[in-house]
Amino acid sequence: MPTIYVTRRIPELGLSMLRDKGFTLDVSEKDGVLTREELLAALGAKPYDGVLSLLTDTIDGEVFDAVPTAKIFANYAVGFNNINLPAAKERGVTITNTPGALTNTVAEHAMALILACTTRTVEGDRFTRAGKYEGWGPMMMLGMDLAGKTLGVLGAGRIGSRLAHHAKHGFDMDVVYYDVKQNPDFERETGARFCRTVEEVLAVADVVSVHVPLLDSTKHLINADRLKLMKKTAYLINTSRGPVVDEAALVDALRSGTIAGAGLDVFENEPALAPGLAQCENAVITPHIASASVPTRDGMARLAAENLIAFFDGQTPPNVVPA
Ligand code: NAD
Repeated sequence: MPTIYVTRRIPELGLSMLRDKGFTLDVSEKDGVLTREELLAALGAKPYDGVLSLLTDTIDGEVFDAVPTAKIFANYAVGFNNINLPAAKERGVTITNTPGALTNTVAEHAMALILACTTRTVEGDRFTRAGKYEGWGPMMMLGMDLAGKTLGVLGAGRIGSRLAHHAKHGFDMDVVYYDVKQNPDFERETGARFCRTVEEVLAVADVVSVHVPLLDSTKHLINADRLKLMKKTAYLINTSRGPVVDEAALVDALRSGTIAGAGLDVFENEPALAPGLAQCENAVITPHIASASVPTRDGMARLAAENLIAFFDGQTPPNVVPA
């Protein structure tokens, strides 16, 4: 039966599914991300048949070559920007991911970031705890209502569409979107209007939420020039991947009032923050926890296990990432 290396402990549900099928699992005992040297050493220790990797592992040609017997890397994430796909293809390694399991959870987190910004919840919490609250004031901490405002979605795939559903049906927002593919089903469900350019979205949206994958074409999709196109009263939300937003340019925009605020779950050089970001009162920042609900993390573990089980049953795994 196959022997799998698991680069970090994931929910038991996925591990026990594999053990129940007779797989042998070696799970990293480190409570943290393996360094490059640790990862290469761990994979070189045995002729593993497969690897269960995480988005925090950089998987490239050198890593594949450290364990040439492993013909599947099951990534415990929907994003796969941590994996060099051409290097996998060259070596005939199958890559799988965990799409769908986390869609609603991430969309809810994006909604939470939107509300935290527009209702100034986190800022108000900090203010109150600091003992600065001296009584109700008619002009104190004024925010923005969402009803009747426009949500701009960049990347209307699973998560972007789900967020738009919440915004439209839960908060009476109008929706505009930009995607490389127009999506008529999405338009019917949310009344969303397709924009032909990112710029068109930025010009009209009161909240811009980013949901594209990290690709060469989406790195710094939001840069200094594009931030200037947003309304001064608008908010930027990013739950996709940090490098999709030029974080230094965002800090400048937050400081100078180019935009009203930002809600971020991901950062360009995680876990580090761009200089000055932590001091921006108008930014709400969370530590890459958008998918971190108990059922969703179980669901991701289940999908990763199902992909491995199908592969070793000789079937095509349900979530193969196209090379
Ligand atoms: P998805 O593939 O369903 O949707 C992505 C959408 O982006 C697609 O509609 C695609 O056509 C569009 N797109 C691709 N390139 C584009 C471009 N250049 N310009 C505009 N649109 C483009 O993916 P998903 O499940 O919605 O996930 C989106 C991303 O969210 C993932 O790739 C991942 O990086 C990120 N994510 C983050 C977390 C988190 O914890 N913060 C959790 C899950 C996913």
